[in-house]
Amino acid sequence: MSPSGGAPPDVATARRALAGLDRSLEDRSGGRLVLETSAGVPLLLARLPGKLRVAFTTRLGGVSDPPFASLNLSTKTGDDPGAVGQNLARLRRALERVDGETERGAGHSALTLISPSQVHGTRVVGAAEHREQMAEADGLVVHPDLDRGTAALLLFADCVPVVLVGEVDTAVVHAGWRGLLEGVIQQGARAMTGPPALAFIGPSIGPCCYEVGADLRARFAARYGSRTVEGDRLDLWSAAEAALGEIGVLPAQVINPRLCTSCQTELFYSHRRDGPRTGRQGALAWWSGT
Ligand SMILES: [Zn+2]
Repeated sequence: MSPSGGAPPDVATARRALAGLDRSLEDRSGGRLVLETSAGVPLLLARLPGKLRVAFTTRLGGVSDPPFASLNLSTKTGDDPGAVGQNLARLRRALERVDGETERGAGHSALTLISPSQVHGTRVVGAAEHREQMAEADGLVVHPDLDRGTAALLLFADCVPVVLVGEVDTAVVHAGWRGLLEGVIQQGARAMTGPPALAFIGPSIGPCCYEVGADLRARFAARYGSRTVEGDRLDLWSAAEAALGEIGVLPAQVINPRLCTSCQTELFYSHRRDGPRTGRQGALAWWSGT
């Protein structure tokens, strides 16, 4: 844990970090992700044809105090629920602004954010189904007809966010080491109507920072190959890419900007870096103007 773990970036530092991300994102993502600040909330937005929207948040643009500063989206790690509520309202406004208020129109109801209770399992359910049952799940599928006006929001502070994009629907998956070993990404593909053709890997802990024990390294090497291990560190990104290969997503169709949550204190929360009292950033998918 670094001594500054969880400390909020001052305005100038945050601005510099965002400018750096803005400059590098085109190269990092092959032009498939762009940084856009919407209603004061910086978002990493996917460039996709059609009405599907995919976004990743950073820790910037919210109201939470340290060590949760500032756009913490979780009430589960000790932050003031009032502040988290304000952050979620800011995020909702930002997403609606991305859609374009004219497109959505005055007669449309606001976008609803749906978040499951994440348990490091492999259950992936439809967002509509989740809304009715409030189930524990580590992935949500959003469908353009079944989930109108609904954005799937999953929360992260090192685990790997994976968004699977298919011809019909899309899935947002929470893949930590347990989920990766147990096949949560593969399960996400099974829960979709058609096979995924494209995938986004969001900000998560990189092989630069994820030291683990020999036993876990051996399990990953056995399951996903030796390239998932670098010295005494684990490469969750390689494991996620291998899992995506198993469900037919070609390497050229995997967009991984390789943004390490632990390295980039100014931009992201990291459980490994900051300990349990830190915030959560989000990965989102929704259908615009439906
Ligand atoms: Zn790192």
